[in-house]
Amino acid sequence: MSDAILLAHGSGGRLSHELVKAKLLPFLANPMLNRLDDSAIFEANGRLSFTTDSYVVNPIFFPGGDIGKLAVCGTVNDLSMSGSKPAYLSLSLIIEEGFSLGELDLILQSVKASAEEAEVVIITGDTKVVNRGQADKLFINTSGIGIIPDGVDISGANARAGDKVILSGTVGDHGIAVMSQREGLKFSVPVESDCAPLNKLVAQMLEASTKIHSLRDPTRGGLATTLNEFAQQSNVGIIVEEDRIPIAEGVRAACELLGFDPIYVANEGKLVAIVEPDDADRILATMKENPYGRNAAIIGRITNDYAGKLIMKTKLGSSRIVDMLTGELLPRIC
Ligand code: MG
Repeated sequence: MSDAILLAHGSGGRLSHELVKAKLLPFLANPMLNRLDDSAIFEANGRLSFTTDSYVVNPIFFPGGDIGKLAVCGTVNDLSMSGSKPAYLSLSLIIEEGFSLGELDLILQSVKASAEEAEVVIITGDTKVVNRGQADKLFINTSGIGIIPDGVDISGANARAGDKVILSGTVGDHGIAVMSQREGLKFSVPVESDCAPLNKLVAQMLEASTKIHSLRDPTRGGLATTLNEFAQQSNVGIIVEEDRIPIAEGVRAACELLGFDPIYVANEGKLVAIVEPDDADRILATMKENPYGRNAAIIGRITNDYAGKLIMKTKLGSSRIVDMLTGELLPRIC
């Protein structure tokens, strides 16, 4: 086998079979995938969740992760935000002719490690190769299926006046990590992506309380966009205390230098939860026991005033309306 992807690796013929058997299956093998039939077969009962996402991050390797880790964690997290337990994933690769097989190995190693950590199984997939210059190295699409436990009803439309807003940790890490790698920027305090599977954190939160109303991972558009979405979906106001939002030192410094507001910068391992006030402290304590929630904080509350709006209160007592992200802050961030 050559050390680079050839167009014939996407032909559906002999080289495609070799690629799947010699390169993909050693990382991804499991009884459901190994059948290599046209679709995977699985048993399911009850309510399921289903999601899909495409990953075009540039560069494909960045501090704290790579496109493979991102493709698994992103879909695991979208399933988790409906309160479901992620179970099965698909993995589709769109590869540019000439892409290094060595780098493909590294990406698949990450896919495998992330799927193992999240305890999800990749049961179907696809590989296409396009001519040099017609894609940028590697694009990945993952879809996922999750199983929703009985009694769980989580939606961005479920926030109610009096509820508390909990953020699972620092914001802006992923966006700054990818951007600094892409632009070759060095900061005195290095920033790593927060890319991580959050399904176990969510499972622990659901075990601690039945009063979780909304969950969302603030990816593109950042925390400010997610909170605006909740405010609009639930037709409530959200008041956040700016100085309660955890921000890593390196992210804060980078954002000051570049003129970004960290509340608009993408995250890949954080969640926002809207919960009933009497359970907020218990949920927060549970989150802090999980490594992906150790910096969690209650950052605000839901109100019937300012319906559809996000209000940010500063340390000095002034407040301002904070809109969704408009335009594109950082293209190809995930
Ligand atoms: Mg999401």
